[in-house]
Amino acid sequence: MITVLSFNEVRATSAGRIGLAPTMGALHDGHLALFRAARSGSDTVVASIFVNPKQFGPDDDLDRYPRDLERDQTLAESAGVDVLFVPPVGEMYPASPRTQVSLGGLTEHFEGARRPGHFEGVALVVAKLLIGIRPTRAYFGRKDAQQLSVVQQLSDDLSIPVEIVPVSTVREPDGLALSSRNQFLSGDERAAAVALSRGLFAAASEVEGGERDGARLEQLVKQELAGHSSLQVEYVGLADSATASTLAGLTTDTFLAVAARIGKTRLIDNVAFSVGDDSVIVDRGELLTGPSVLEEA
Ligand code: AMP
Repeated sequence: MITVLSFNEVRATSAGRIGLAPTMGALHDGHLALFRAARSGSDTVVASIFVNPKQFGPDDDLDRYPRDLERDQTLAESAGVDVLFVPPVGEMYPASPRTQVSLGGLTEHFEGARRPGHFEGVALVVAKLLIGIRPTRAYFGRKDAQQLSVVQQLSDDLSIPVEIVPVSTVREPDGLALSSRNQFLSGDERAAAVALSRGLFAAASEVEGGERDGARLEQLVKQELAGHSSLQVEYVGLADSATASTLAGLTTDTFLAVAARIGKTRLIDNVAFSVGDDSVIVDRGELLTGPSVLEEA
């Protein structure tokens, strides 16, 4: 694996079918799942690490976002990355960009409503990565379900010739979705954090039993969260996977999303549903079974 700092070097060192997995570093098993998926479908696996200032708002955690390049290099290499692209801010934004990429209604609810400007920052940097690196496929986690809607729409609208590949959420054995922000949780906060996935799993089981009503599913999640006074719920809601618009009940491709604050840390999670005529596929993600890289590190 080589580590490079410029788009030119990425292009000079990548050949054949390029698989790209963009990240902000502080790598965990969720990121490694993207890299492994890219490995199996690509000749060159490019992973990027860029803590994009433009997707953080003034009240967000840009300054305390975890950074550890040496550790990330070891983990990325172990998961089959060929080229690790770690652009300095000046490579990504040589001049203050004037181009804005906004996704209209896709960012009206959920994360878009809570984090003004966030998805404009995400969309700009993803557009730059897709255009600058020209991957055959780009891998994104379902953990960030609304981001996935945004990225798919962006590549369609701009006719970027890339296949967007969603990767299921990787979870701790008790269900907590892996996140670079989990390391901020105290012991008590960590114990409360599992309520997000528990609530979502309870709702998922109801869906498997035939429930299709959004209010009922949201209620199940809220009930689970209400048992923890340290949790401040920001939203619980059902969304159309393609448009990230709110839904009153399950349609073909739907996700049930939750966001909550625990102390200073903000966590998001979701489960995804694909409803057929008389069947439903639930994507809860994958529980880690082997040792996590967080324990090994
Ligand atoms: P981040 O570094 O948090 O910006 O995430 C980089 C990519 O990894 C995004 O596509 C995320 O959706 C994905 N990702 C983050 N956490 C997980 C997880 N627990 N499971 C699967 N993918 C994830």
